[in-house]
Amino acid sequence: MLKNSEKALQNRFADLEEVACANQARVLKAFKEYQVNDSLFAPSTGYGYNDRGRECLEQIYARVFSCQEALVRSQIVSGTHAISACLFALLRPGDILLSLTGSPYDTLTTIIGKNGSVRGSLLQKGIAYQEIALTEEGRPDFPEIAGVLAKIRPRLALIQRSRGYSTRPALDVASIEKIAALVKEHSPQTVIMLDNCYGEFTEVVEPGGAVDLMAGSLIKNPGGGLAPAGGYICGKEGLVEQVADHLTAPGLGRELGASLISSRSCFQGLFVAPHVVLQALKGALLVAHLFQQAGYRVYPSWDEQRADIVQGVELRDQDEVLRFCQVVQSNSPVDNHITLEYAPMPGYEHQVVMAAGTFIQGSSIELSCDAPLRSPYIAYLQGGLTYEHCRIVAAALVEEIILKQ
Ligand SMILES: *Cc1c(COP(=O)(O)O)cnc(C)c1O
Repeated sequence: MLKNSEKALQNRFADLEEVACANQARVLKAFKEYQVNDSLFAPSTGYGYNDRGRECLEQIYARVFSCQEALVRSQIVSGTHAISACLFALLRPGDILLSLTGSPYDTLTTIIGKNGSVRGSLLQKGIAYQEIALTEEGRPDFPEIAGVLAKIRPRLALIQRSRGYSTRPALDVASIEKIAALVKEHSPQTVIMLDNCYGEFTEVVEPGGAVDLMAGSLIKNPGGGLAPAGGYICGKEGLVEQVADHLTAPGLGRELGASLISSRSCFQGLFVAPHVVLQALKGALLVAHLFQQAGYRVYPSWDEQRADIVQGVELRDQDEVLRFCQVVQSNSPVDNHITLEYAPMPGYEHQVVMAAGTFIQGSSIELSCDAPLRSPYIAYLQGGLTYEHCRIVAAALVEEIILKQ
């Protein structure tokens, strides 16, 4: 079964290898341009003034992601924090935040305050929120986006690249560019912000040039499985400064913030990220093909274009989801003896089960799987540091799920 799937996927794998090669070259070029040397890997202390390692890493991020400026910090605790910092830094009472791609990722619900008056939420601070639903096929509704933009002229428009916990397709860079062009046309003052989580290095170009600001997590794609914590924010110079002022304090901005975690891991993680993303994508394709052949619905299907590393597999019920996640957990290098169950998680509306037998806590560029407790019962699998590991897990999934259905 495994061998047949791999054979059927040969051409897809070859295409993805091309993408990884192009991205590796782009990253290497930035490392050469900024003359990375090992004195930049030393940690800094205290205020972190004149932290040359931090500054160099941020310049490289900006270059690799086609942005003017970047903040890459361990003080940004997660992807959610990175996005939240951008929203709170830029939105004022009376402003409107408009989501252009349906409901944003689960953890943003609390930040926005969508589900009632949540302490400290955007809504509580007097910032209004609206969203434009996706079409039935889960694509951006371009005519509706144009109409609403022209009418309400929001201060900030949010785009989400990855599918998140949903069955909609991830947005490719061309679609992000198309949406951004619509915003520029119909509401030129609006800040275009992209949630770039899980999208990095899945295509040969990054969407940084098309948007004003974007954010993501270092324990996903760009950390390459090596960065031990942190988040990044990239974008236009003036905007990144505003977010930095919010993250530290007005006037302190980006000048402070010691590199307390290993800078080398962040440099090295970015360097290997194109390859690690390739491993994850190949693993996702293999699982997609195996389950599709066995009659399951998968998102995306194996022959579809990919723009994130997430693979959804629709299972029959919550028990099958739990077993699926357990197979991933039991075949992980860390915590493989653990028995999983559904539990509430901070920031998430529904209970979730998470398989994360990872070296870095919660790292989802490492092979991991999560599923919210809601219908349809979909397990979202992502990551994989080596294709070989993905392959072992795929074989176990065949054994424990497909052959026992
Ligand atoms: C993971 C993710 C986030 C939030 O990231 P955390 O680091 O888990 O806080 C936001 N948006 C999307 C689409 C994500 O995949």
